Amino acid sequence: MKNWIQAIIAVAALALPAFLMGIPPEEGLKRLKEGNQRYVKEDLQHPNRGAERRAELSSKQKPFAIVVACSDSRVSPEIIFDQGIGDVFVVRVAGNVVGPLELDSIEFAALYLKASLVVVLGHESCGAVQATLDNNTQDIEAIAEKIQPAIKGVDPKAKGALEKATKDNARFVADYISKTPVISKLISEKKLLVTTGYLELKEGSVEWGF
Ligand SMILES: [Zn+2]
Repeated sequence: MKNWIQAIIAVAALALPAFLMGIPPEEGLKRLKEGNQRYVKEDLQHPNRGAERRAELSSKQKPFAIVVACSDSRVSPEIIFDQGIGDVFVVRVAGNVVGPLELDSIEFAALYLKASLVVVLGHESCGAVQATLDNNTQDIEAIAEKIQPAIKGVDPKAKGALEKATKDNARFVADYISKTPVISKLISEKKLLVTTGYLELKEGSVEWGF
């Protein structure tokens, strides 16, 4: 009997840190990459969407990743990464910009839900970035204000300007998040990874970490 108790305690001691910490960031990134590959190949698993998962999550959530994405209707993170409910904590706003409200959401998920990965996801044909590039910002002033400093190095007339601006914007947002006190502390403790992604709409593929 004593050995059984010792064995249970040993297993619990091994499992507990993993439960408290969530999965390592590299594991979360691998899950998103594999899910995106399934989306590209139309080999979707549609995981974690049934009644059992709903019951499991009814009193708690434990998402492994935070995705900061554009509101664009073609960029739904659970779909393009083939994830289910409770997997991804999503912050969505046109142009995937981050201000105080979005930052609070990210910090909540990182600190209290122990999500260990942040992906700032830009996408092909982003209307918010295009409007900012074109200086056509009268209807999206607050968003354009956030995008403008990120894309000031882009010549709007150059070939590939929109893609470059979109990637610069995602990288700018990732850098901003990474330098905030709460997030930078988690990064230095190796509890959190912040990276970027760029979604090609037609192929469905995500380019990572630019
Ligand atoms: Zn967009």
